[in-house]
Amino acid sequence: MKNPQLLRGAGPSLTGSSATLRARLWIGLLALLPALLAAQPAHAAWVSRRVDGIMGTRIFVELWADDPAKGEQDIDAVMAEMRHIDDSMSTFKPTSEVSMVNREATKHPVVITPELFGLLQTALEYSRITHGAFDITYASVGYMYDFHTHERPSAAQIKAALPAIGYQHVVLDPKRHTVYFDHPGVRIDLGGIAKGYSVDRGIAILQARGITNALVNAGGDSRVIGDRRGRPWMVGIQHPDHPDEVVTRFPLVNQAFSTSGDYERYFMDHGVRYHHIINPRTGDSGRAVRSATIIAPTATRTDGLSKTAFVLGATAALKIYNSLPDVAAIIITPDGHMLYTNNLEPGTLPPPGPADEGRASTAPTGPAAPAQSPATAAPASGTGAPTP
Ligand code: ADP
Ligand code: MG
Repeated sequence: MKNPQLLRGAGPSLTGSSATLRARLWIGLLALLPALLAAQPAHAAWVSRRVDGIMGTRIFVELWADDPAKGEQDIDAVMAEMRHIDDSMSTFKPTSEVSMVNREATKHPVVITPELFGLLQTALEYSRITHGAFDITYASVGYMYDFHTHERPSAAQIKAALPAIGYQHVVLDPKRHTVYFDHPGVRIDLGGIAKGYSVDRGIAILQARGITNALVNAGGDSRVIGDRRGRPWMVGIQHPDHPDEVVTRFPLVNQAFSTSGDYERYFMDHGVRYHHIINPRTGDSGRAVRSATIIAPTATRTDGLSKTAFVLGATAALKIYNSLPDVAAIIITPDGHMLYTNNLEPGTLPPPGPADEGRASTAPTGPAAPAQSPATAAPASGTGAPTP
């Protein structure tokens, strides 16, 4: 009984008329409550959501919302866009536009949507930049791999299908907005760039809705806008053999990043690792590196570049990355060394992106850790020292 007076006042000693009056007052106040609550400014807060099963991966969105209820709607809009991209670009969906193209484009030019046409143009551009290491026609052989059931093509099957790999087989007509495959057996798959593209679309949607601080992540591809309210976003690179370990963390503001790894989708067969990044020249998995992380202004760009080192090897890939001023990269070699582009000298940070454009990352690790230069981090295994 902390407040006997109050209890007494509300008790049976009330007379009939004053009780009625008070009851009316209370009812009046209760009726006013929604209006009073609505007049209160909503508390700005971080709003986030994780959704599994879009584009065969997990989507994560986190944003700073002046109005959390609107923030939830902003995330709804991003998720709807991700589903749309999945519906039109997945090769696992027979009804997708890309599946339709794979059925028809070896027979005749196929009219496609401006969105798919644009992304195919972008994909071909990354094939040229990476000297053919990035190549959406990898799928001409790639469709014979199944990393769930551990199936892979025989040497004879690869030999027969290999001539169909080659981005030059994808013929785009900008006037008629058509795509044509000039070799029978060509198939395309946008699994190496559609997630990066979807992250950029998600960021564009958030920006159009007035969001200034956000992270969008789809599988290995992420992009951040703004900072985490006074602190940079901290992202990490996963250890290739220990999923729970982060080999390095680094701060990001207004950038995108992608990590490709041979540990994402793979199976072992007689001691050989068969994984999801295919060397277009051999039709076999690219085993030159274990992991490659790219940092650049957009996630389409980081996604388009993150497969290169697996195919060309670290030295040739770093040469390409070093020739692109807006790109930084961190590569983990099979013997556990970490290699960096020249702009990631010890003590320096990835190049900052323009305020209105994100730059990339892969494993969001939250705001917790203090900024750490990638070059000061431990090597991926105990065997080697960082080799900048
Ligand atoms: P995530 O899908 O997690 O973002 P990556 O960015 O590393 O992973 O992309 C891997 C995917 O890229 C593969 O699952 C496949 O769909 C596609 N791919 C594989 N090899 C190539 C290649 N040489 N060029 C373009 N895309 C590729
Ligand atoms: Mg990717």
